[in-house]
Amino acid sequence: MLIDTHAHLASHAFEAEGELDAIIARASEAGVTRIISIGSELEDSARNVQIAAAHEGVFATVGVHPTSVHEVTQEGWVEDLRGLTQLPKVQAIGEIGLDFYHPPQDGSPEDVWRARQDRFFRAQLDLAVELDLPVVIHQRESAEAVGEVLKDYIGKVTAVFHCFNGTPDQARVILDQGHYLSFTGIVTFKSAADVQASARFVPEDRLMVETDSPYLAPVPFRGKRCEPAYTRNTAEFIAELRGIPSETLAQITTSNAERFFRLPHPR
Ligand SMILES: [Zn+2]
Ligand SMILES: [Zn+2]
Repeated sequence: MLIDTHAHLASHAFEAEGELDAIIARASEAGVTRIISIGSELEDSARNVQIAAAHEGVFATVGVHPTSVHEVTQEGWVEDLRGLTQLPKVQAIGEIGLDFYHPPQDGSPEDVWRARQDRFFRAQLDLAVELDLPVVIHQRESAEAVGEVLKDYIGKVTAVFHCFNGTPDQARVILDQGHYLSFTGIVTFKSAADVQASARFVPEDRLMVETDSPYLAPVPFRGKRCEPAYTRNTAEFIAELRGIPSETLAQITTSNAERFFRLPHPR
């Protein structure tokens, strides 16, 4: 039994008639019995909550991604987000963070854009503290800046760094702050020596697996549309890296995800 801790089920990639039911069924056949569907802005967050309500094994997070901050223009957006967190099966706030890889999406100067991301990041961390919810962190070429922000929240918020792509040294800083690391199909790529070293290095109680569907399909599906069933490929790859049976890796990552996202035990 596996949990895909990061998929975007509200993505347009899955909006064709019957598509969601089909990918959830294929996931289940592959042993991926639960999926956390992640929000990127307010509309897809609301849609996530609906998808979770309609599918037993699906849970939702709600949040504004750092490259979507320009799409949220209404004054009371924090209130809107707070409202979504009160709905059933919303387990965390995310994905939130900083992204210095993509250029400013609203045409503003770099410093203005980064300040805006920072404001959204902190406002959502404050909300997580207030509501006692864990957070899903997105960071790209912004590891240090994210680490600086999170210093203000040590002991107040627990985070998972999704799609962790860093070195063991970078992993250590995050782990020392009490957070979790989650790995996508990138770990299966030939060029991903650093990520593989990190996936070996993470202590057993801080490790999770995800697909980031519809992006980042693992080998042998690399370059294709990704879906939650492929969590199995990533999990099996990491089990081999760590020299443990894939059953054990599944148990470890599942119990971490249950604890982190406070999931009810399945019947
Ligand atoms: Zn992300
Ligand atoms: Zn994502």
